[in-house]
Amino acid sequence: MPASCASISPRRSTRQPCSARRRRASAWPPRRSARPDSVPDSVPDSGGLAGPLPRFADLTTMRVGGLPARLLSPATEQELVDAALTTWGSGDEWMLLGGGSNTVVSDDGFDGTVIRVLTRGVTVLEPGVGNAVAADRVRLRVQAGESWDDLVAHTVARGWSGLEALSGIPGSTGAAPVQNIGAYGQELSDSLVAIDFLDYETGIRHRIEAAELELGYRTSALKQGRRGLVLVVELELHDTQAEASVLGSALSQPVAYPQLAGALGVQVGDRVPLGVLRASVLALRGAKGMVLDAGDPDTNSAGSFFTNPIVSLAFSRTMPDAAPRWPLSDPELPDRVIPLDEYYGVGPIEDATPVRLVKLSAAWLIENSGISRGFRLPGSRAAISSKHTLALTNTGGATADEIGQLARFVQGRVQSEFGVILQPEPMLVGLSL
Ligand SMILES: Cc1cc2nc3c(=O)[nH]c(=O)nc-3n(C[C@H](O)[C@H](O)[C@H](O)COP(=O)(O)OP(=O)(O)OC[C@H]3O[C@@H](n4cnc5c(N)ncnc54)[C@H](O)[C@@H]3O)c2cc1C
Repeated sequence: MPASCASISPRRSTRQPCSARRRRASAWPPRRSARPDSVPDSVPDSGGLAGPLPRFADLTTMRVGGLPARLLSPATEQELVDAALTTWGSGDEWMLLGGGSNTVVSDDGFDGTVIRVLTRGVTVLEPGVGNAVAADRVRLRVQAGESWDDLVAHTVARGWSGLEALSGIPGSTGAAPVQNIGAYGQELSDSLVAIDFLDYETGIRHRIEAAELELGYRTSALKQGRRGLVLVVELELHDTQAEASVLGSALSQPVAYPQLAGALGVQVGDRVPLGVLRASVLALRGAKGMVLDAGDPDTNSAGSFFTNPIVSLAFSRTMPDAAPRWPLSDPELPDRVIPLDEYYGVGPIEDATPVRLVKLSAAWLIENSGISRGFRLPGSRAAISSKHTLALTNTGGATADEIGQLARFVQGRVQSEFGVILQPEPMLVGLSL
C-alpha cells in the first residue's frame, strides 16, 4: 500500500488521497441521509450477499437483533481495508462482525455501518532460509474472515498441533484474538505470534506482536477498547509430521484439562493422536450444546454468556467450600498485609504485594443460586440452555430484550446469593445489563 494511503487519520479528514479509494468513496458507503427510514438499504456487497439488508437475527448465532443501517461484506483484503478506511473517514458509527457468535445486538439494530469480514485464505510459512520458523514448527498467516473451526480441522489433518483443543469454537479467525478464545486447556495465546492490524486511530496498518495484545482470560487490548480491524492472524504450531513417521500418528499437545483427559481415558499431561483429541472435544462440546447445530435450539446462543469471575483469594474464602475455584497467581505469594499507618481506607496501595487471584465457576454460582438448566422467565422465549447453565439461548423467536431480561435476572440472583456480579462475555451492542 502506498504510504499516502496508509497514513490518513480517519477521524480528522474524510479526504481519500489514494486514487483507488477516491473512486469508491462517492458510492460506498451510501450516506444515511439519502435513505428513507422505512426502506432498508440493499447490501453494497462484494461478498456474494447482495439483496435486502439482513437483520442481526440472521447475522448472529443468538438470532436476535434488528437491522443495521448499512452492511458491507468485503471478501478480499484490499476491499476490507478500503471498506474500513472509507467508513471511518465518513465519520459514521461502525462495527465489525465475523461469524456473529459473540455478539448480541438490540432489537433496535445498529444505526451505523456494519463491516462483515469475509476474507478467506491461509498462507503457510515452512522453516527455511530467511524466515524465523524453527525446524519443528510451522507458521500460518490466516485471513481474518477464515472460519476458525475450518482452520482447526485443516491443521489437525496436516499433523500440526496447538489448536486441537479449540475445535468446534464457532466464528472467524479475526475475532479469535479479541477475547483470546480458549477451551479445554488451550488458548489462542498459546499459538498466536502476531496480528496485522488496521488501526482506527491512525488509519495505519501495522503488525502487533502477541505480547503487546494484553491477552488474558477471555480478554485482550482489542476487547478493552483498542479500536481497529484485525486483517491477518499469524500463528505458530508444532509440526508433528516427523514425530508421526516414527510413532505412526501425529500427537496433540499435552492434554491440559481433567474433563478432557477423563473422556480420553488418559492422564492430564498425556498426548494422544490429534484426530482423537479433536473428536473427543467435539463430542464433549456437542453434549453441552457448544457446537453450532441448526437442529439444536440450545446452540442459538453466544456460547458462555458470562465469564468466570476472578476475585481476590480473600473474597473467595467467603464462598461455600463446595464452590470450585482455581488459583490464578503464584500460590507461593505471601498474604498481602497492609500496615495500618499505610492504609487510607480505599484504593490500591502502591508497591504493595500483589493480590492473589482466584477464578470461580460462573456455572456453579448460577446453579447454586437456584437457576437450573432450561430455566426461563414466565412468558419468555429466552432460556438457560437445557445442557449448560452458562449459555443463554433463544428457544425460537426470542427478542434481544428477552435475552437481556434473563441475563439481568441471572446476574441479580448470583449477586444476592454470593455477592459476585457476573460479567457478560459477548459484545453487547445497544444492550446493557
Ligand atoms: C455455541 C458457541 C460456543 C462457543 N464456545 C466458545 C469457547 O469455547 N471459547 C471461546 O473463547 N468462545 C466461545 N464462543 C464465543 C465465540 O465463538 C468466539 O468468541 C469467537 O471468536 C467469535 O468469533 P466471531 O467471528 O463469531 O465474532 P463476532 O461475534 O462476529 O465478533 C466478536 C467481537 O469481535 C469483533 N471482531 C470480529 N471480527 C473482527 C476483526 N476482524 N477485527 C477486529 N475485531 C473483530 C467484533 O466487532 C466483536 O466485538 C462460543 C460461541 C458459541 C455460539
